[in-house]
Amino acid sequence: MTVYTAPGQPGSIVEYRSRYDHWIGGEYVPPASGEYFENPTPVTGQTFCEVARGNAEDVERALDAAHGAAPAWGRTSVTERANILNAIADRIEANVEKIAVAESWENGKAVRETLGADIPLAVDHFRYFAGAIRAQEGSISEIDGDTIAYHFHEPLGVVGQIIPWNFPILMAVWKLAPALAAGNAVVLKPAEQTPASILYLMDIIGDLLPPGVVNVVNGFGVEAGKPLASSSRIRKIAFTGETTTGRLIMQYASANIIPVTLELGGKSPNVFFSDVASAQDDFYDKALEGFTMFAFNQGEVCTCPSRALIQSDIYDQFLGDALKRTEAAVQGNPLDTETMIGAQASNDQLEKILSYIDIGQAEGAKVLTGGQRADLGGDLSGGFYVQPTIFEGKNSMRIFQEEIFGPVVSVTDFADYDDAIKIANDTLYGLGAGVWTRNGTTAYRAGRDIEAGRVWTNCYHAYPAAAAFGGYKGSGVGRENHKMMLDHYQQTKNLLVSY
Ligand code: NAD
Repeated sequence: MTVYTAPGQPGSIVEYRSRYDHWIGGEYVPPASGEYFENPTPVTGQTFCEVARGNAEDVERALDAAHGAAPAWGRTSVTERANILNAIADRIEANVEKIAVAESWENGKAVRETLGADIPLAVDHFRYFAGAIRAQEGSISEIDGDTIAYHFHEPLGVVGQIIPWNFPILMAVWKLAPALAAGNAVVLKPAEQTPASILYLMDIIGDLLPPGVVNVVNGFGVEAGKPLASSSRIRKIAFTGETTTGRLIMQYASANIIPVTLELGGKSPNVFFSDVASAQDDFYDKALEGFTMFAFNQGEVCTCPSRALIQSDIYDQFLGDALKRTEAAVQGNPLDTETMIGAQASNDQLEKILSYIDIGQAEGAKVLTGGQRADLGGDLSGGFYVQPTIFEGKNSMRIFQEEIFGPVVSVTDFADYDDAIKIANDTLYGLGAGVWTRNGTTAYRAGRDIEAGRVWTNCYHAYPAAAAFGGYKGSGVGRENHKMMLDHYQQTKNLLVSY
């Protein structure tokens, strides 16, 4: 067991700056307005740094830097770009512990997750896209005896990227790695709740990239995000965030006729068929673990399995065991490697979750465990903690239909296969889903019948770089990860040549 020293305290491995400016053209640039906003840690609720409050003028400066860098970066060889991406991966890997602690401190998520998953995945994504760009090929088609069509990939140029706070570094890397591999320059806006993690990362990797290839403008949605997404100087906007914001991003992009990638919200069903409980073995244990994934990362995951659907004949037994498993999960200091559930990312998020707990009870849903703000005492008493909460109710309730984005799962039962699929698909969203069964045919059919971009089957919450990720329905447009992502950051140039 390790309890990392809090940043700012003597002996911490993380040295956060007390003030962060924008990262533009390979250096820190103060905000045009001269204004900064406070950035608290969810661990204690105390401010640990202040951050430049960006506006349209700052976005223009970042776009100037990106446009200055884009032509030369776009002409680099794929080998050169792949080498840089691999160097970035190596640098992150060499600093994984520091970056993991820094992110936990800013976001509140348990260091067990950042150290064990988020930051190693960031390393892997850079390596994956370094390999993918080297392996990418164009094509030649013979149109007729004298005419040949050549197809080449070209970078888009300068692209905009806007990310949320729940995976501050991984969400940036999901976007940066393919965009850079494809030869684009980027202006990225982090979430106002978690800008310091990505700037901490730029302190570590920034010198590996030519100035202006990656620029970070901090600030709030309407002040900094809108001017970026609406700019006629970007050739694509990639956005991850709420579905309501995604609608706005699509409107902004339409004015300039640029492509969008939208990774939006979710209300993922996690379906447990009755054969799961046919034996009390490792499989059963794994399924119970899959249930408790609703509390993984404090439930602040777009694919949080926030609706558990349990077949009626095993409902009491499975739910009883799942309750025991949930109540045994250790909630505590995010910087303690034993902690499974840390703090919510912001006070606003905590308030939102508590309001949904009230809404659920007002709707007549029953709280089976949790349901309160968690006071962990001592230095943590000002932090943003909520107990993992299980509701029993019906799929028509708001707590089943609306994204809570916290450690709250709403449980209901189903009679048979058709009932399960009907309930699973009765949602605006279609991002992730889980299916648990020992029957291969049921697993395959359910995987195909559930309307979601990712269906985990007998597992949950793995995000390998080689697996395409994205939403059906209100959960988004386009995909991330997988080498197909390169196409989303490139133009196709056709040369039609008559010999
Ligand atoms: P959000 O939509 O409030 O904010 C996301 C980003 O958009 C932030 O950087 C914010 O400043 C910016 N923004 C807000 N309004 C804007 C505007 N008008 N113009 C331009 N930018 C604007 O989302 P959030 O609360 O930060 O993140 C949580 C949401 O993200 C959840 O809905 C979650 O499901 C979703 N999410 C989806 C995925 C996925 O891959 N599908 C992954 C992670 C999170």
